[in-house]
Amino acid sequence: MKKLIALFLSISLISCQNDELKSSENKGSTKFHPKVEEIVSQMSIAEKAGQMTQLNIDVLMQGEVFNLSEPHRFDPEKLKKAIVDYKVGSILNVGGHAYSLKKWHEIINGIDEAAQKTSLKVPVLYGIDAIHGANYTLGSTLFPQQLAQAATWNPSLVKRGAEITAYEVRASGIAWNFSPVLDLARQPLWSRFFETYGEDVYLAKQMTKAAIKGYEGDSIIDPYHVASCMKHFLAYSMPFSGKDRTPVYLAERQLRELFLPSFEEAIKTGAKTVMINSGEINGIPVHANRKILTELLRNELGFKGLAVTDWEDIIKLHSLHKVAPSLKEAVKMAINAGIDMSMVPNDYEFTDLLIELIEENEIPMSRIDEAVSRILQLKLDLGLFENAAAPDLKDYPLFGSDEFAETAYNTAIESISLLKNENNLLPLNKDQKIFLTGPGADEYTLLNGAWTRTWQGSDKSFDEEDKATILEAMQASGAKVDFELGCAISNIENIELAMSKAKKSDIIVVCIAEEPSTEKPGDINSLDLDKAQLEYVQTLQKLNKPMVLVMLLNRPRIVNQIVDNSQSILMAYQPGSEGGRAINDLIFGIHNPSGKLPFTYPRYGSTLLSYDHKTTERLDTEFGMNAFNPQWEFGFGLSYTEFEYSDFKISSDSLDDKGLKVSITISNKGEREGKEVVQLYVSDDYASITPPVKRLRKFSKISLKAKESKQVEFWLYPQDLAFIGNDLKWITEPGSFSLEIANQKKTIVYAP
Ligand code: BGC
Repeated sequence: MKKLIALFLSISLISCQNDELKSSENKGSTKFHPKVEEIVSQMSIAEKAGQMTQLNIDVLMQGEVFNLSEPHRFDPEKLKKAIVDYKVGSILNVGGHAYSLKKWHEIINGIDEAAQKTSLKVPVLYGIDAIHGANYTLGSTLFPQQLAQAATWNPSLVKRGAEITAYEVRASGIAWNFSPVLDLARQPLWSRFFETYGEDVYLAKQMTKAAIKGYEGDSIIDPYHVASCMKHFLAYSMPFSGKDRTPVYLAERQLRELFLPSFEEAIKTGAKTVMINSGEINGIPVHANRKILTELLRNELGFKGLAVTDWEDIIKLHSLHKVAPSLKEAVKMAINAGIDMSMVPNDYEFTDLLIELIEENEIPMSRIDEAVSRILQLKLDLGLFENAAAPDLKDYPLFGSDEFAETAYNTAIESISLLKNENNLLPLNKDQKIFLTGPGADEYTLLNGAWTRTWQGSDKSFDEEDKATILEAMQASGAKVDFELGCAISNIENIELAMSKAKKSDIIVVCIAEEPSTEKPGDINSLDLDKAQLEYVQTLQKLNKPMVLVMLLNRPRIVNQIVDNSQSILMAYQPGSEGGRAINDLIFGIHNPSGKLPFTYPRYGSTLLSYDHKTTERLDTEFGMNAFNPQWEFGFGLSYTEFEYSDFKISSDSLDDKGLKVSITISNKGEREGKEVVQLYVSDDYASITPPVKRLRKFSKISLKAKESKQVEFWLYPQDLAFIGNDLKWITEPGSFSLEIANQKKTIVYAP
């Protein structure tokens, strides 16, 4: 009997899955433009499979993939094979390094001319990683990396940066940007920590909204905006080992409460495309996970846009994840799970196998038509059917302009975070004799990080003459600065000379740094700062001179051994091409620092907690439970002036659906103007799921003149206090909640 029941259960489960498959296809389906439907109805299987194929530009060029002949030029046969014979829908990337606008136009026009030779003349969609500006176009504006952008706590700067990036990407003839990264930075070892908006859900959501609006504007048909790509769906940033593209183990509660909201926000804001996480979650590679790609992304979140794989990820289902015994099986798995386009990207196997699978009815035609329609709809939305050729440069007079560089500069200024300033050592004055040293002091690549003219961003031959390193900025500003490298990234150099120059100085400014890197090449085994740099700073500290420590880091590296003897510390992140100027101008007080850490800076390499940890992880010296004892807290950052918080008020101490108003007065007590980020944290005093000690719920960045006071108001609603409950749904439980802004506290009660 038991066996019978089990058989019945398993049969009904299978039929249930089949029904689900059908019903979810209907639910997720979108109304496409009649033109899209018309083209799809005329397409052959091969044309459809071609549309779903995305190739690396190398495949079309003279030379070998990853080893093109210079200067890069199309191989006419290869170009024809891709665009005319295979009718490939999308091309991506650069052949190893950035191109000039002229070169981009040659490439885009070459592809477009080939597409015009096909019977349906479907335009090709070019996709690029414009991660911190149009970084693969020479002469473009380079912004601080995303983590630094989050440190501004200023969404309007993030939006403007994205608008400028979109303008410069479009000027290059490209309409699709693989940005922003919406993964949360809660695993500091991870090599792409700097590519995120930090560890907090709320801050990341605000930045996400700003970036998508900036990239896409009101309509992406406008030739100054691009289609954005929210990536990498979902929870890519949380590898257990810390190594890129290794397994993630996460409960659904954390997935929903922490990792999903930025994607939901992006979808609400209108994001047109999504790129999928290369890794696995709880044993299932995301590229093969229909639950995530269709049930969650489409049916639940209602995403209507295009889903593209990440690099080679269908191949990896077979070769690396070992869930597909053949490449053909991998293609079937991924497309049936919900993938629309495969970033193949270096051969035609995907396309050939997809054609076979369609012909063998292994993938329903409805699934293929849905994927192709999404691709064509995006091309239509971008205006590519009207014109996919490179634009007229006369329409882009601001490309690489001083006006755009000024926004990059302002973003760097507002991101750099002053973490320590004993006895107000900073700002320095120009009469002081400065010894400037360390790997980051005179090195342009270290200001910019990865995704700068090359993938890893470490090729010095792309340094830009008109942009200043920290040393060059100091020299230009008339500072009395003496320089000696003293220490490269991982070896001490010319130490005697460095020490003798240090001895003659009044102040030492030492710039520690991490080699630019991302993805697998950026994997590290430990958060320790490089030994040579540590020893070098400690040797300098023995001189007992006042020291300013400037940190140019991809992710937090452990500095507890050198913090006490550094009087001032500036976290500069990777501030971009205006970073040298910005660091100089903050050091000399031309501007006042206002950046705040968008993550918890760990004190120890093995104690990695976020600010919204649980009470059991709190510092408790009595029992030695000193888990949460970071070097610097999330949201922390000093100013050259002093702010005082007073007059914390709530419109009511009981919350209902109408919401309540929270207000507070902030006064600038100092003698100079400054910007402050007012941060409202809420904690649930008791809840059915152990509540985090606090969560950021609102923030506002304000500017205050010397001695000026301002009142800031926030509205709080029951949904602001919600968490993912036992049934994996958002819930706000009745009870008392503590509100905290700086050192001010209040309690409210929610009693619906
Ligand atoms: C990265 C993506 C990127 C893609 C295309 C991948 O290796 O993970 O973030 O968009 O390459 O360059």
